[in-house]
Amino acid sequence: MNLHESEKIAGMLESEGYEKAESQSEADIIVFNTCCIRENAEDRAEGNIGALKKLKKTNKNLIIAVGGCMTQQNGYAEKLYKEFPFIDIIFGTHNLDGFRSLLSKRIDRNKSVIDVWDKEGDIREDTPKCRSSYPNAWINIVYGCNNFCTYCIVPYVRGRERSRKTEDIVNECKKVISEGYKEITLLGQNVNSYGHDLGTSDFSSLLKEINKIEGKFRLRFMTNHPKDFNEELIKTMSECEKICKSVHLPVQSGSNRILKLMNRHYSREDYFDKVSLLRKYIPDIAITTDIMVGFPGETEEDFLDTMDLVKRIKFAGAFTFIYSKRSGTPAAKMEPQVDPEISKERIMKLISVQDSVNRSYSKSYNGKTIEILCEGYDDKKNKYLGRDVFGRMAYFDCKENLIGQFVNVRISKTGGISLLGEKE
Ligand code: SAH
Ligand code: SF4
Repeated sequence: MNLHESEKIAGMLESEGYEKAESQSEADIIVFNTCCIRENAEDRAEGNIGALKKLKKTNKNLIIAVGGCMTQQNGYAEKLYKEFPFIDIIFGTHNLDGFRSLLSKRIDRNKSVIDVWDKEGDIREDTPKCRSSYPNAWINIVYGCNNFCTYCIVPYVRGRERSRKTEDIVNECKKVISEGYKEITLLGQNVNSYGHDLGTSDFSSLLKEINKIEGKFRLRFMTNHPKDFNEELIKTMSECEKICKSVHLPVQSGSNRILKLMNRHYSREDYFDKVSLLRKYIPDIAITTDIMVGFPGETEEDFLDTMDLVKRIKFAGAFTFIYSKRSGTPAAKMEPQVDPEISKERIMKLISVQDSVNRSYSKSYNGKTIEILCEGYDDKKNKYLGRDVFGRMAYFDCKENLIGQFVNVRISKTGGISLLGEKE
């Protein structure tokens, strides 16, 4: 999501005649697109902004802008400006599309501009994008979130759910495919609730429309919410040949008590049922997830429930997080907050279980030939890389540049999560 927003900021700057600079010292403008989901993302952003103080002294014309969800937090913009008065522009998530007018205001006035809106702006379809992830194109389908999971800051900094019109999304999909993109990833905090506010469409219907677009391409989407992930969608996934055989279904916890405190609106039994249904329709589906440890009040027993769920489901991959207290969310006031050392121990145990699942899943690829969409070149490994329909990353040797092409790769070696092979 943030990555795609950065593509929009770059697109707006490009439309004003700016070009990508080779380094910070050569730049006329530096824009930080921040995230505040976890405290460490916020600390990193503040560190990086602070580090620019020297550069600003040597290059008086440098413009420094800071936007994203960090600045959208209540009272944060003022606090940030007080700490770093050399910042030229501070904007939020709600007025990202208006960045060009803030930039010209700053240039005309030669004075810092701080403009963070309380309310969501209208959906703008005319914002230019400078895409940077060929052959994949990110496409937003729904903005904001209505779910208010008790640990999460997103609904406070991104506002309520707003769906783009189906026609606008389908047209954007057609455009990127005609430009040669080979993969589309639809984005939303909860893609499953797409269209609820429109009343004219839903997520499954949208997928069917996009699936009709001619040409060979892969269709992915994220993120799903287990409470809204229904049979109609699973059926659609099994019927649409362009939809990849992988799904990101964040479970967060395996404990019913914690899921309730998190306000997730499903139980571990519901989650098992959805996974069974998914595997009934698409037996080889790769399921990935997000899991959090150390949510306030998480006991050893709750954590063991999470471990048990992870062992039983056998996720194809998992992003694991230590709960991070976000001020203004209900969980920030819940007691007791878990000792950080205990959270660290728990996440290590979780990672170790998931690592062994990853290794055995990778092993099952040995000797197989898979179709990879070549995404890039890894300078360190000196190999091309890409993913199969299950989302598994493979590296391979090749003399010609194959980025953006579908390539058959025979897997000869498997490690932790990635695969190694040769082009056939
Ligand atoms: N809308 C998506 C993504 C939200 S952010 C979803 O519901 O899945 C991505 C992940 O960050 C979440 O799934 C959650 O696991 C994690 N996360 C969110 N808030 C967090 C917090 N306060 N501390 C730690 N992890 C958090
Ligand atoms: Fe946050 Fe929950 Fe919304 Fe995801 S669904 S963005 S975790 S509130």
